[in-house]
Amino acid sequence: MEKILNYINGELLKPSNGEYFENYNPSNGSAYSWVPDSDKTDIDKAVAAAKEAFKSWSKTSKHERSKLLMKLADAIEKRSEEFIRAESKDNGKTESQARKVDIPRASANLRFFATAILHDHSELHEMDGEAINYTSRQAIGVAACISPWNLPLYLLTWKIAPALATGNTVVAKPSEVTPMTAFLLSKICIEVGFPKGVLNIVHGYGSKVGDPLTTHVDTPIISFTGGTETGKHIAGLTAPMFKKTSLELGGKNPNIIFADANFDQAIEMSVKAAFSNQGQICLCGSRLFVQKEIYSKFKAALLTEVSKLKVGDPKAPETDLGAMVSESHMKKVLGKIEEAKKLGGQILIGGEREILGGELKKGYFLQPTVIEGLSNDCSINQQEIFGPVVSLIPFETEGEVIEMANATKYGLSASIFTENISRGHRVAAAIDAGIVWINTWILRDLRIPFGGMKQSGLGREGGFKSLQFFTEPKNVCLKI
Ligand code: NDP
Repeated sequence: MEKILNYINGELLKPSNGEYFENYNPSNGSAYSWVPDSDKTDIDKAVAAAKEAFKSWSKTSKHERSKLLMKLADAIEKRSEEFIRAESKDNGKTESQARKVDIPRASANLRFFATAILHDHSELHEMDGEAINYTSRQAIGVAACISPWNLPLYLLTWKIAPALATGNTVVAKPSEVTPMTAFLLSKICIEVGFPKGVLNIVHGYGSKVGDPLTTHVDTPIISFTGGTETGKHIAGLTAPMFKKTSLELGGKNPNIIFADANFDQAIEMSVKAAFSNQGQICLCGSRLFVQKEIYSKFKAALLTEVSKLKVGDPKAPETDLGAMVSESHMKKVLGKIEEAKKLGGQILIGGEREILGGELKKGYFLQPTVIEGLSNDCSINQQEIFGPVVSLIPFETEGEVIEMANATKYGLSASIFTENISRGHRVAAAIDAGIVWINTWILRDLRIPFGGMKQSGLGREGGFKSLQFFTEPKNVCLKI
């Protein structure tokens, strides 16, 4: 089996303790590579390399940094089929999803921030001929970038691209469940001649390398995407150290269908919002609120569409749902389905593990599942399940649905389907979420601020917000 290596100071290195653990292919349940079981020693080495590299990298011109990031983007594109296959094998997602979304977005992230940095500008405040204030923004130091397993390369590049573009150096920790495309990226860095120490990637368990990385005295910036509990843990540890921290956390997002919605569009988007990437996207619409006048018709049409979804080989182009990321996650989601039944929920479709034949018979596949009959305040409608499970909830009035939509600890995103433009704006204004879509879902412009309210996160990344997050403003007042 292939051994994944850490990328530290421009070299591919074994973990210093020489220990590895197995990495599984979720579509057949078999181990296929070894992941470094790194520890504090590796983190210390990586941070020291990044700190040293910061001295020169932070002084390079924007154009130079931009050129190098563009080279990385080109290299990913050139080898995109290799990345697509690796992401699908590591995560269980369909190759078509990796081809359409994950890998093109990884190179788009790099290109976006490589060019954004060239178009950034500073502020100037004149004081009536007495003085001029100008505010420059400077790189901070070593950024700790921690990303989850659901969109591995996509979310890793979403963090490292702005961090590097602004002149910081990086120690990244990809999820231990999906390390392969980060490993490929480190090989590409070597190929394109990325300066040593500028980007470092350390693999291993969050519990073992996470704390040494986030609490390291030389990592003043932390950009984390993952679950709310891990986010709380990181915030608790690092708040007394006054680190600049951005937390992109979980969601329990409402998808609201008014009776006047474009029916076919609402059905199509609701299926996508519930089941894309096997429901393992923080923005998935897992609470589906449908106005009573159309509830029965909507439910019937939804079930017809869900029954057409094909769970199968992630490599096959006709597959809609691939495998869940791991056996433990699949079991967690199945446990939530059992809990839904105990709470009185009716499983309208799905609800079981899907056993495929041949080589895939041990794969972690789940059927797309629709539940109804649960109150909005029960655990199933309050906790993030992060799987192909959607809960149907009827509502009567606009006021009632706004109240239910907001009645969770999360506030990441929401979708509203209505042909009434005034209602669309009114409801969007009333929903507590960092991102609201009207008549669509997950339509992303990389320039917009991205992040959540309440326990869905702290701070915003995306576009110029990312450039601001990864830099410190410094005002200089010049007396004339
Ligand atoms: P986790 O919070 O379990 O893990 C996220 C990352 O943090 C992983 O790399 C993990 O490593 C690492 N980690 C774990 N413990 C620590 C620690 N003590 N210190 C530092 N890092 C640590 O989330 P998942 O990987 O399970 O991802 C799913 C979650 O991510 C969902 O809640 C989802 O909503 C959220 N998410 C949020 C997004 C957003 O933009 N708001 C986007 C995508 C996902 P390891 O895996 O090795 O344990």
